[in-house]
This record gives sequence, C-alpha cells and structure tokens, in this order.
Amino acid sequence: MSRYVDLHTHSIYSDGSLAPAELIREARKAGLSAIALTDHDVLDGVAEARAAGKAEGVGVVSGVEISTRAEPGEVHVLGFDVDPSEASPIQRALRVQRAAREERANRILEKLGALGMPLAIDEVKAIAGLGSLGRPHIAEAMMARGYISSVDEGFARFLREGGSAYAPREALTVPEAIALIRDSGGLAAIAHPGLIYRGDFGRLERFLAGLIEEGLEGLECFTTAHDEGTVQACVGIARRLDLVPTGGSDYHGEKKPGARLGWARRGHRVPEAVLDDIRTRIANRRPGASPDAAMEADPSAL
Ligand code: AMP
Ligand code: ZN
Ligand code: FE
Ligand code: FE
Repeated sequence: MSRYVDLHTHSIYSDGSLAPAELIREARKAGLSAIALTDHDVLDGVAEARAAGKAEGVGVVSGVEISTRAEPGEVHVLGFDVDPSEASPIQRALRVQRAAREERANRILEKLGALGMPLAIDEVKAIAGLGSLGRPHIAEAMMARGYISSVDEGFARFLREGGSAYAPREALTVPEAIALIRDSGGLAAIAHPGLIYRGDFGRLERFLAGLIEEGLEGLECFTTAHDEGTVQACVGIARRLDLVPTGGSDYHGEKKPGARLGWARRGHRVPEAVLDDIRTRIANRRPGASPDAAMEADPSAL
C-alpha cells in the first residue's frame, strides 16, 4: 500500500490553529504516515508533536520554515530533520529572528496608528498566544477591533508587501538560513518557489542554481500555492538541479482555509519515498562537511 506524508504544516506555535497533538490526530485520520511540523521561525512545537506522533503512530519530521529576505523579496526556506535541541546552532538564530518579528510588529502597529487604526502590541500578543508573532495575528487583532472584516482584507489593504502598513523586518539571508539548517543536521528546501518570481521560471531557475553551492538540496514543487503549470515547471527545475522535489499542504487549520492536510494540491499527494530521499541525502553527507568538501571527498573513503 502506498503511504503518504505532508512536509509543510503549521501549529499554534506559529500561525496555525491546531496544537501539535491535534495536528497529529488529524494526520492519522488523513492516513498520513508522517508529517513535518514547519512553524515559522520556531521549533518549539516539535517535542509535543513527537510525543503525540509516538502515541498515534505518525512519524514527525522536526521542521521549520525560516523567513528570509532576498533580492526578489521574501523567500521562505524549509528545514527538514533539524536538531530541535536548545543547543542546536539554529536555535540562537531563530531567537534573534523572533525578536525581529516583534520589533517589526511594533513598526506595523505604528503605521496602523497613523492610519487611524490604533492597536496595542498586547492585543496582538493575546491572539498570537504561544505563536511566533506574525502579520496574520495583527490582521486578527484588526478584525477584533472591527477595522477589517477578514484576514485576507487586512493583507490586501494594509499588510501585504508594499501595503500601506507594511514594514520589512531584519531577517536572515537565504544562504544563512541554508547554512543554519545544514549545521543543525537538516536538509534545506525553498518553500512555494512559484511565488518568488511569479511565473518567470527562467529567473527562478537561475536564482535557485546560485543556491546549490550554498547547500540547497530541496525544492517544494507540490504545494497548495502552485497551480498545475507551476508544479510541472518546478519539477523540471528540481530534476535539472538535482533537488529533492518536496511537497506539503501548508496547512494552517481553519486559519487559512483552502489547504487540506495531506494534500499538496487537489490531486497531488506526497509519497513517503520523498521523505526517504531527504533522509538518504542527509545520511550520505559526511558529518560537518560543507557541500564543497563533500564533492571533493574521496568516494573510496565513504
Ligand atoms: P509574517 O510571518 O508576519 O511575514 O506573515 C506571513 C504569513 O502570513 C504567511 O506565512 C501566511 O501564513 C500568512 N499570509 C500571507 N498572505 C496572507 C493572506 N492574504 N491571507 C492570510 N494569510 C496570509
Ligand atoms: Zn503561516
Ligand atoms: Fe511560507
Ligand atoms: Fe508555511
């Protein structure tokens, strides 16, 4: 029997609506053999997901989705099988990144105030709860105040990149995020790459080719964010650049309707073999080796 995985999900530790244990229960009901928990800039939900996964018989990939700033704009980098322990190299960087999220939220609130929509940071934090603070939480707080009637409206009118209340944030670069993921034992993939250059696949491929030597090893081809043409274009790029074609729903629970757990897109599920590929790549890596060193390594020594 073929089995399926979902390599892109969010919980209440970022901007999803389910606790990790609830997410795992849904994954079991959806017949998934494993999921990757990939909260924005945080690994805090992984322990809870693993405990629940053990009880429910669902595998858990310790994952993260790191927000980075790149020349084309915001790029999200997925890390799979990263070491979630506090001592892991990625943890310090993620703490800094979360502080930058809060600082940025304050700047967005200043802009909203100037636009006649005052909002206190505590109102946003009350909504974020445990979650790594983000624009979706700000949008919900705006809704609670009656400034807007939906999160989508908040993004479209004010919070989108370039919107009147948008503020950029200090963030890691893509190469920094990739290096942190690798140094923490994981495999790095670019999330929903179709959103980066919106249909200009030539530019996308050149951008990705430049990241290979930085240690990029995966490309999220299958995602709710892609239409069928984008899926196929990304599969082609992944094949040419020898990247693992990963996939996931980007499930956020009811907070982001439209994504269904276990389904990367209507008609696309992600076979377990993709996770096997990721793990084979990681296992074949020499500990601590940079991608260059790995290429120069004497194959007879492996
Ligand atoms: P942030 O982490 O603060 O940069 O916010 C980015 C997150 O907001 C994304 O990862 C999405 O989950 C969410 N998002 C982006 N655009 C929209 C939208 N139009 N409606 C709802 N959520 C969105
Ligand atoms: Zn999100
Ligand atoms: Fe994303
Ligand atoms: Fe996501």
